[in-house]
Amino acid sequence: MADLPDKGTAFIDWYLAVVEEAGLTDKRYGVKGMNIWTPYGFLARRHLDAVLVREIEATGSQPVEFPTLIPETEFAKEKEHIKGFDEQVFWVTKGGSSTLDVPLVLRPTSETAIYPVFALWVRSHRDLPLNLYQIVNVFRYETKTTRPFLRVREIHFFEEHTCQVDEAHATERLRSNLGAFRQMAAALALPYVAVRRPDWDKFPGAHSSVAFDIPVGGGRTLQIGSIHHYRDNFAGPYGIRYEAADGSQKLVHQTTFGLSERLLGAVVAVHGDAKGAVFPTSIAPYEVVIVPIPSAEAGDAPLAAARELAERLRRAGRRVRLDDGDERPGAKYYRWELRGAPLRLEVGRREAEGRVATAVDRLGHRDRIPFDALENDVARRLAEFDRSLAARARAAFEEAFVLVARLSELAGSTRVGVLSWCGSEECGHKVEAAVEGALLGTPEEGLPIPVGEPGPCVGCGSTAGVRWALAGRPL
Ligand SMILES: [Zn+2]
Repeated sequence: MADLPDKGTAFIDWYLAVVEEAGLTDKRYGVKGMNIWTPYGFLARRHLDAVLVREIEATGSQPVEFPTLIPETEFAKEKEHIKGFDEQVFWVTKGGSSTLDVPLVLRPTSETAIYPVFALWVRSHRDLPLNLYQIVNVFRYETKTTRPFLRVREIHFFEEHTCQVDEAHATERLRSNLGAFRQMAAALALPYVAVRRPDWDKFPGAHSSVAFDIPVGGGRTLQIGSIHHYRDNFAGPYGIRYEAADGSQKLVHQTTFGLSERLLGAVVAVHGDAKGAVFPTSIAPYEVVIVPIPSAEAGDAPLAAARELAERLRRAGRRVRLDDGDERPGAKYYRWELRGAPLRLEVGRREAEGRVATAVDRLGHRDRIPFDALENDVARRLAEFDRSLAARARAAFEEAFVLVARLSELAGSTRVGVLSWCGSEECGHKVEAAVEGALLGTPEEGLPIPVGEPGPCVGCGSTAGVRWALAGRPL
């Protein structure tokens, strides 16, 4: 097997090689941007979904699943939304050989599928808040270059849609989403910054959007999720009203929270290294891989011991893989490092006789684990591994931002620029031209470098209304 491309100088090549060689995806399907979830990638996705479900349900959200197809008549009701998605939708126009009376849209996101039904479900203030989420596939006719997990046409998508009695409660709901995302990101050991998008870059139809961005090296950034305040922008066109306690009819205020398989791409992008992928324990397809080392003098003892360890760990609730194939141990080590398994246990003659396994984590820390202490020691080693992984990601995150006082400093910058901005669209576009990327917006949470009061705007020199903003090159 060939070496991987260099992550620092050829990031995209490195990323594409890792996701394919680690067996996370197969992109040889006959439709561009629609990739196959292979067994290893599917397991990672299942564990990722479990993290999202755990954290969103902790905030009182309930699961639903709406149909995939949306009638054009519903899709077209909110004008900004349809404008934003018009060029991205796949249409279903025929049933068999008959042309459909009303063409159907393959959902690119589900506002227009869900909100006509919210109008039926919400009657009274007693029906609120309504906090529902679904994890489904959505479809977008992506015309840019597609990349597995990062930009695809069939997207594994998490979307929460809520109805609240008023704007203040909607704002409170978004605060709760921020808290849920903090827990999700912690489980994935992903440091991020929450950024309020400028008006020209918010979600189509939203009143305001806050996105979660991560730096992925070289001044590039990746949006890994977002939350949106809709006010009553959709409630009006879709007629989502309720009877208030005083008997008056009011429109609900709505929020959404969107995440996707990009989180899996982000885990690869942030934690991966020269040896391949690195999974945090939370979503690793296998937390522990056990490799028996056969030898003529050891006979069956290493395999028998490895089986014993695998069975005990499985009973302890660990996701464990016994790799008892015919390959040499060295080839197995290489493969499980490439695939990012957090912990490997090696069992040869010495280990079988001494009843002490050799443990090597994905960051290279070696340890000895007595069979007697197996369950506890594996749990301790995995927790230490997760802490080391989070610390490594945090250090890279802190290195990835730089304070910028002049537009000229943005050109070719290999870090995400932190700068003063007056808030005008004109200066925003000057920043975008200078960085050859985007003015990501105003940081709300997670900015790792200490900043005081903003100085004069980098675009116009004005000191009126200045705020901090981030500039980078979104992938
Ligand atoms: Zn300005």
